[in-house]
Amino acid sequence: MNNYGIDIWGDDNFIIDGALVKVNHGCKPALLSIVKGIREQGKRGPLLLRFPHLIKKQIERIFQNFQRAKEELNYQGDFQAVFPLKVNQFPNFIDALTEAGSEYNYGLEAGSKAELLIAMSHIKGNAPITVNGFKDKEMVELGFMSALMGQDITLTIEGINELETIIEVANEQPNSTPYIGLRIKLHSLGVGVWAKSGGINSKFGLTSTELIKAIELLKKSNLIEKFTMIHFHIGSQITDIGYLKKAIREAGNIYADLIKLGAINLNTINLGGGLAVEYAQNSENTKVKYSLTEYANDIIFMLDSISKSKKVKAPNILIESGRYVAASHAVLIAPVFELVSEGYLESDLSLKDKNPPLIEELHELYKFIDSKNALEYLHDALDHLNSLLTLFDLGYIDLIDRSNSEVLGHLIIKKSIVLLQSQNYKELLHIQNMIQEKYLVNFSMFQSMPDFWGLNQHFPIMPLSKLDIKPSRSATLWDITCDSDGEIAYDTNNPLFLHSIDLKNEEYFLAFFLVGAYQEVLGMNHNLFSHPTEVTITIDKERYFMENIIESPSIVDILDNLNYDTPQIEKMLQDKIVSSTMIAENLKDKTVTALKIFLGENGYLKTVK
Ligand SMILES: *Cc1c(COP(=O)(O)O)cnc(C)c1O
Repeated sequence: MNNYGIDIWGDDNFIIDGALVKVNHGCKPALLSIVKGIREQGKRGPLLLRFPHLIKKQIERIFQNFQRAKEELNYQGDFQAVFPLKVNQFPNFIDALTEAGSEYNYGLEAGSKAELLIAMSHIKGNAPITVNGFKDKEMVELGFMSALMGQDITLTIEGINELETIIEVANEQPNSTPYIGLRIKLHSLGVGVWAKSGGINSKFGLTSTELIKAIELLKKSNLIEKFTMIHFHIGSQITDIGYLKKAIREAGNIYADLIKLGAINLNTINLGGGLAVEYAQNSENTKVKYSLTEYANDIIFMLDSISKSKKVKAPNILIESGRYVAASHAVLIAPVFELVSEGYLESDLSLKDKNPPLIEELHELYKFIDSKNALEYLHDALDHLNSLLTLFDLGYIDLIDRSNSEVLGHLIIKKSIVLLQSQNYKELLHIQNMIQEKYLVNFSMFQSMPDFWGLNQHFPIMPLSKLDIKPSRSATLWDITCDSDGEIAYDTNNPLFLHSIDLKNEEYFLAFFLVGAYQEVLGMNHNLFSHPTEVTITIDKERYFMENIIESPSIVDILDNLNYDTPQIEKMLQDKIVSSTMIAENLKDKTVTALKIFLGENGYLKTVK
């Protein structure tokens, strides 16, 4: 059996029970039952399921781990955390997050005016708000407004100019100055695809010379008491904690020295985000080399020892991890629409009375291949197949011969896979690569997994059913966009096997896990496929509930968003129907109605026959 690496990426959030994958919570509903329940309400196309209990689980984990680490070392600083809104700003996610986080005073981080307005409106109690990213005067003024509302807000400046803007606004409206943070430029490099986030050439932050200048400016303008935080962020998905430790050492020393330079209220180090998520589906591809326990222990231990040796107060710690909190809560589920290369059956052969000699030989190989000669016969067959294709190009054999060659070639490969099953695994993977099945899946990669397209980020994939049957088809997935990049190709280093299915008589759904971080808002409407229908699933001991259903935007809405005049479009279509001489008069009304129904539905395919 194949467990699709659920023990590696699954974090006990999902379990395989018999043929089905189930949510490991409360009454443990099968994902398939949830999907069927939603489709009974007439929803078609891909579905995005949100599980609020998984958001809560991650938040609790973070706070509990730091609490434990603090107690173990009797650490004197506080621990705080905020959620960076850029990771997922969708309201049904944010509402669940702020609710789950309220008992921990979990805050929000904003990087733009729009995000800051979400933070200001959604923050609960006196949970912290941090503001990063470039700011103009208007955005600084928004920060002052938040402070006037009594919110615990820190504006982190990215450059001296921003500090000058804050000083200007503070002069205009004294008494409502928010806390001020300084983003520091570390000489320690960032890591991975996001290396640009850290390092001396990074886009953000102040050099040590600028830091000293900033302290002078703050003192001169009587704002030094508002300066409470230094901040760095070395990149997302930090898989090796060594980089973070280097950054903490550097930041810890900067913290202590800034206090000595007169930053009397500096009390917090904001370590940014970066806690990594394991996306691997097989043990050879795992990436994350540390646990949350280790992460918390290392941070507390290092800041404790630096502050002790430099004789300053232990800093409060604030983290901004987003991916770690959001990734697991969302699962994309999409139906398979078609198998593209099913076929090449014995019945497809149309052998002639007299065939070219190489085809006769292929036929013999097919008849006599057995477990002893399988590898040798297979190699011969592949050679023959290549030669036959060349003969076709040169005009020596015809299309019927070519078809027979391809069918025989595939039949031999399929047979040898069965014969070689128990033998050389590597060779088998290679062969399977040659006869993959293409599963056409009713979703858009560009909309729902843009990081696969843009960054080659793997997401765990598994079917919702048949998990008690060994999957035998090496699978390539195609999405329904007209773009050849919309493909998850079969990869021998990370093979995906799926089941043989008969789509005329059964449905087959694929689930894509860990898509809750970054994917939704980065997703693009390529080919005008829009955000899938989303449903929040809450689960208790007896049953589960489908809440906050937001249907995928209709075609009219999508066109409206592109600034088409949609009433005009409807009218144009209607006029064309009315004036057409090809449509019978008594059918015109019906045709207009049918078009209107199309415009009101989403653009995904309908897979139910
Ligand atoms: C993107 C970002 C984060 C979140 O990073 P994750 O890898 O999702 O944890 C935190 N802080 C800042 C400043 C960021 O830009």
